[in-house]
Amino acid sequence: MPKTGTERFATLLSPIRAGTRELRNRVVMGSMHTRLETEPDGIERQIAFYAERARGEAAIIVTGGFSPNAEGIFDPEGPRLDDPEAARALRPICAAVQAEGSLICAQILHAGRYAKIEGCVAPSPIRAPINRFTPREMTDADIRRTIDDFATAAANAQAAGFDGVEIMGSEGYLINEFTVTHTNRREDDWGGSVANRHRFPVEIVRAVRARCGPDFLIIYRISAADLVEGGAPAEEIAALARSIEAAGADILNTGIGWHEARVPTIAYPVPRAVWRKAAANVKAAVSIPVVASNRINTPDIAEDILASGDADMVSMARPFLADPHFVRKAREGRADEINTCIACNQACLDFIFSDRTVSCLVNPRAGRETMFRDTPAAQPRNVAVVGGGAAGMAAAAEAARLGHRVTLFEAGDRLGGQLNLARAAPGKDEFDETLRYYASQIARHGVTLRLGQRAGGADLAGFDHVVIATGVVPRIPDLPGVDHPRVATYAQILSGERVAGDTVAVMGAGGIGHDVAEFLVTDPAEAHDPAVFCETWGVDPAFAAPGALAGDPLAPRPARRKVIMLQRKTAKAGAGLGVSTGWILRNALRKHGVEAIGGVVYERIDDAGLHILVDGQPRTIAADTIVLCTGQEPERSLAEDLAARGIAATMIGGAKEAAELDALRAIDEGVRLAQSL
Ligand code: NAP
Ligand code: SF4
Repeated sequence: MPKTGTERFATLLSPIRAGTRELRNRVVMGSMHTRLETEPDGIERQIAFYAERARGEAAIIVTGGFSPNAEGIFDPEGPRLDDPEAARALRPICAAVQAEGSLICAQILHAGRYAKIEGCVAPSPIRAPINRFTPREMTDADIRRTIDDFATAAANAQAAGFDGVEIMGSEGYLINEFTVTHTNRREDDWGGSVANRHRFPVEIVRAVRARCGPDFLIIYRISAADLVEGGAPAEEIAALARSIEAAGADILNTGIGWHEARVPTIAYPVPRAVWRKAAANVKAAVSIPVVASNRINTPDIAEDILASGDADMVSMARPFLADPHFVRKAREGRADEINTCIACNQACLDFIFSDRTVSCLVNPRAGRETMFRDTPAAQPRNVAVVGGGAAGMAAAAEAARLGHRVTLFEAGDRLGGQLNLARAAPGKDEFDETLRYYASQIARHGVTLRLGQRAGGADLAGFDHVVIATGVVPRIPDLPGVDHPRVATYAQILSGERVAGDTVAVMGAGGIGHDVAEFLVTDPAEAHDPAVFCETWGVDPAFAAPGALAGDPLAPRPARRKVIMLQRKTAKAGAGLGVSTGWILRNALRKHGVEAIGGVVYERIDDAGLHILVDGQPRTIAADTIVLCTGQEPERSLAEDLAARGIAATMIGGAKEAAELDALRAIDEGVRLAQSL
């Protein structure tokens, strides 16, 4: 007999005691900036957002960070908890979460030298490399007032109905800045010795406990690996953990890496669960529950971490954007229906960094719960969706979920479209989870699947609604010799239909050009093997060295072949890549010796290779293979056929607009179209 959810994930779903509270399972929904509070209907949207995740059975929900005072805000619009009246406005959010059986904790985050404001403060006046503002050195009085501000913020949260707080002590924010010599050069009682550097967080925890009493949950987020030079070694982290426990914290959550670190910590190039031993180091030092975090995105991995004893609980943040019902589905034996976070950061962090509210590439409803409906369609219709890529799968699954009778036509022998190509880039095989999710939804909601059938006008005449999601085809530039045998499209390379030679010219330095270049130079093991990942990025695999660094994160790596990436623009290659992942990709290519040349004029391709002009000077790249990553064109032949027959159809995804098509837009358009039927 197959195992039930509670048998398969026995540790994950078992209750645990923290302080005076009994938690229903071992899952914390980690803190995320949502920016929902900046919207006019912010409270309603936060109620819907958090309550949905409580229905999904997270044991504890931690909110985005609230500053304890004016200097600690992350940006000028950042939320604060220093005003009891403003805190009380959050009461309905707490009530909605608690009504669904979860506990809710407010995160208190003082941004320190990361605060993007004039007048930011820090233990020492050292500017962060990621902030243009230089902080003011805090005086002794500032420090004592800030400790009190933390206690006041916690008391305000308690009065508003929160079950507890998470005190943010990691990621390079103010508290973390006090704990390490990288940013703390003080010579008074708050700097120098380990005990002095730990005094600030210890006093904060003591003050919060004294102000809020024994039943108020205190989670302290400790930096388990700073990943910056001058960061803490394992023994200092263990000492801090013990002091924080003694000061009265109930739970130690772990954070990994400062925001300025040059080591990727959460994006798709990071192997799943690679940081688990950093949490294990903390767990070895204390007896209160310790939470593992970062790149934990399936219940199987979470169970493995807990069952092995590396941690007592797991924190997942983005996985709750991707699927608010993560825990519930695991418990109900429906783990195959979990919409898995693929660690792309495209609609969560990248939206936040561009001042938009949070959402999710694989779940466009995230953060917009009040705008999407769940009610079945009043009039179920016969819907044909043509094309089984991201847009088509999303449209078909959502329309069927809402009660429409859906037939999905896919000319190929499997679903996925461009996702089947994207998945070949190192780390992007996370898209396999998206393919698995849609396969489960298409089966669960009874979509009729016509694989291997290229639908024509005659097949589509009887439907009430036809959706064209036929996607894109690679653009072939108009260039003499483009039909030379050395030329391959990105689709041929990523699908494995063609194998590149030892020297490769990649034409086009957009998202696909970068992915193809990385595919060509990288050993596939780098994306999955924690040991190779640590070696590549200079991380100490035992997380014992200062800052957990054992080498230079930007040190060169052997490449599988020589790759030269070209573009006509003079702008920096990869300028349009995602804010939170582009730097990783650019550094990875640099480490593998990929040469990027901008401002080129393509002349021709022949037996000698690719002939270009750079600054007006002719140059020949003697490439064995020339890969076209020169954009895409829409595949619309069906639309023309249907128009000729007078059959109305709606186009979505790449068929509608090929420029800048990505999975984010494709899934979003698919779901929205289904909602509008
Ligand atoms: P893209 O980012 O627009 O890049 C197309 C590239 O082709 C550009 O470098 C352009 O540069 C070049 N190009 C366009 N027309 C050309 C022509 N006629 N002859 C020669 N070169 C030409 O598009 P993409 O790489 O195809 O990616 C599609 C979408 O997926 C984009 O929105 C992209 O952001 C997204 N994506 C992102 C990632 C990622 O962030 N890691 C990965 C994959 C895809 P020049 O005009 O300067 O030569
Ligand atoms: Fe995960 Fe990407 Fe969704 Fe962010 S946008 S939650 S990284 S799947």
